[in-house]
Parts: sequence; structure tokens; C-alpha cells
Amino acid sequence: MESSGVKQKPQIAKNRLPALPPPRFAYHQVRKAIHLLCFLIFVALPFTNVMRFDIPNQRFYFAGTELWISEFSILFFSLMFLLFLLVAVSMLYGRMYCSYACPQMIFSEWSLGVESWFRRKINKHYPKWPARTKTWVSALGFYAVLGVASVFLAFVFTSYFVEPRDLLRRLASLDMHTAGGITGAVVTLITFLDFTLLRQHFCTTVCPYGYLQGMLGDKNTLLVHYRDDEKTCIECKKCVRICHMGIDIRQGPFQIECIHCGECVDACEDVLRRLGRKTLIHYAWGEKGELLEEKASWYKKLGLRDAKRIAVILVILFYACGLYAAMSMRRSVLVQLSPVRAELYKVDPAGFVHNTFRVKLANRSRQDSSVRLSTVDLPGASLSLPRSALPVKAGAILEQEFDIVVPPFRGSLDVNHFRVIATPDNGEGPTEFESTFLMPPEKKP
Ligand code: SF4
Ligand code: SF4
Repeated sequence: MESSGVKQKPQIAKNRLPALPPPRFAYHQVRKAIHLLCFLIFVALPFTNVMRFDIPNQRFYFAGTELWISEFSILFFSLMFLLFLLVAVSMLYGRMYCSYACPQMIFSEWSLGVESWFRRKINKHYPKWPARTKTWVSALGFYAVLGVASVFLAFVFTSYFVEPRDLLRRLASLDMHTAGGITGAVVTLITFLDFTLLRQHFCTTVCPYGYLQGMLGDKNTLLVHYRDDEKTCIECKKCVRICHMGIDIRQGPFQIECIHCGECVDACEDVLRRLGRKTLIHYAWGEKGELLEEKASWYKKLGLRDAKRIAVILVILFYACGLYAAMSMRRSVLVQLSPVRAELYKVDPAGFVHNTFRVKLANRSRQDSSVRLSTVDLPGASLSLPRSALPVKAGAILEQEFDIVVPPFRGSLDVNHFRVIATPDNGEGPTEFESTFLMPPEKKP
């Protein structure tokens, strides 16, 4: 019934438009989440002593344990473990470290983002300003933020080599005359110039790890590459515009600049999804290998695709076990004992025989400690020490000479084998030293 006379608007049947397939998760978001996580780890590592060198005091902190530079076995296993870990990551996943975890890349992208944020905001809020003024104001804002960020980043970076509280004191007093203060100022300047001028150019011109990763890749390494067998590329070039490294992935997957970030995968998928097509750029194992999305066994999905990769994982496990064994055998109070043979023995007026020894205690823990020395298999022996237990402060080394004094005893020889037992008060077990006590022949009973 046409009763009202009001012309009805034609109904637009929304559901007649072709429904877009749901967007796939974006590698960009995954990367940004990992960037945030890596940034927090980068800041936390030196402050929690998970990994840090203390160059002035010659210490290396690993997994919360203070290691002395002299603890070679632990340092060796730690460094070899980290080295092979980097080799394995490069061999399996190409330059994923560069794009997902490297501080240089994280802060380069961040500084690009801040710069463009200032430009957008100034253009939006002050459209009538002359172009030159807009450029100057946005540059000033960007440099001010980057200046503060450079001080912070340089502080965190230098904390990997100098104790953070000590560094903070130097920063607070604007120390520019000691080595630590000058290093902090130089690192700040380099950081500022890096993130204003160099950014991603660093990765393709200076960074040795970038070149190393290129050499470690092979036919089973994860790559980003372009496949267009049906010639469906619409030449929108979004994949080129999005690339921070300034390359066109369609020219091939082995370009040295490509850091396998996957931003071009997201870009192509975003464009072609609107046309009901699939992305032409993918993560794949090797140039013609399986795509990352394809079904495969779990170990293949992890990248374990040949014997070489299994061998590298086994080497990592070997160093991890070596590191674990070296750490578990470590003593926080190290005791060294040696005889002083400048004078073989002394005989005092009461007829007691003296042999001199030197003890060295190195307290590698953060608590003060003391060590009690005693002898076994040397009848009547006493130690000429001022105290029954030698105190040694946290982080300190104590060296002391003392005599072991023995009365003539039945059955003694020119050379008497005995043991010295060093027992620390920190709950660690005693250390035993085998040694010899020399006596004059005429003192034999
Ligand atoms: S984004 Fe995809 S469709 Fe566009 S140019 Fe790159 S490969 Fe071709
Ligand atoms: S080509 Fe793609 S994967 Fe490679 S760096 Fe550029 S955006 Fe990242």
C-alpha cells in the first residue's frame, strides 16, 4: 500500500559487497611486541647482573653470579655458548635477530617513528605555518626527545661495563674528567649521531654481525621472498615503500640489506586481501622451500631441517652442560696454599720445627666470610695465625704467610706428607691440600 507518499530510499544491501577475508595477524605487531620485550631485557640485564662486565674491577656477571676474570672455564663456556647461540639463530632463521631483537634496529625504527610523529603533529595542528618553520619546529622537538633518549641509552649501554650506581654518581656530578665520565659522554654523542644520521645504514655498512649472518645462511635458512608464478602483482609498490632498508624484495630474497622483518609480507597481504587474493611475499625455508604457514612436523617448523642444524644444537647443548658443570663446581671463596721454601725449615730454641706457608683467599661472593685452617697427619702441629679463622671481606683478596709448628715426634721423616684442610664458614665444603713438612734429620727421635 503506497499510503504515505514518502519516497523510500533504496536499501543498500551491505551484504552484497564481497566480504573481505579476515586479516591475518601482522608480523609488524609481533615485531613491535618483541621490540618492547627486548628493550626491557636490554635495560634490565646490567641492573640485575644477568649479564654485565665490570671492567674497572675486572668482573664478569653472568646469570646473577659474580665471576672473576681469572675464572677462565666459566668465561670460556659462557662466551662459547653465546657465540654458538648466535650462529644457530643465524643459520636457522637468517637475520631475524637484526629485525626482531637488535637494539640498533629497535632504536632506529623508534627514532624514525618519533621524527615522523613530530612532522605529522605539526602539519596537523599548525597547517598555516610556513613550510620552513614547520620543518624547524618538528626537527627541534625530535632532537630534544632524542637528546634525552641518547643520555638514557648511553647510560644503559655503559652500565654493561661499569657498575650502574657508580655510573649514576658520575652522571649526577657531570663528571667529564675521569675515564668513566668521558666514556659516558662519548657514547651519548655516538648514540645521538647514530639515531639521527646513521640508523639502518649501520646494518649494511658497519655491522659485522650482519655480514656474518649472510655467510651462515644456506638453502634451509628462513628467508622472506616473493613468488608470483601467476603474474598477479598489481605493481602498487607498497612493499617497497614500507621497507626501512630501502630495497625491493621482488628483486630477489638474497639482498644483503634484507633483514627478514616481514613488513613487506604484511604490506602485500594488506593490499591483495582487499582484492580477494593472497600475498605474494612470504616467509619460506630457503628460496624455493616450504612456506612458513604450510603444515610440517614440529621440528621442521622450528627450523631443524638437516643434520648440520642438529649438530649445531648439540654443540650448544655441550657448552650449556659445560657451563652448568663449571658453575656448579665454582667456589665463592677460593683458597690457594703453597709452601715458602726460601728457608726449608727453622728450629726454635724450644726444639719446635717451623715450616712457612703462604695462603691466598679470594672471596668472590658479596658476603664477608672467614676460612678456618687445620692440619691432618701431622702430630702435634699448630698454626701461627693471629686468629683461628682468617676473615676475608666480600670481593677482597687476602694473602698471608704463616708457620706450621711441629714438635719432634716419633716416626717423623725428613719429608713428612700431610694435608691442610681449609673450611669456609659460608656452608661450602672444605678444600684439602696435600703438602710436605720438612724436618732436620737430627731432630728425628
Ligand atoms: S605489495 Fe604486493 S602487489 Fe604491491 S607491488 Fe609489492 S608484491 Fe606487488
Ligand atoms: S625487503 Fe621486506 S623483509 Fe626485507 S627488510 Fe625490506 S621490508 Fe623487511
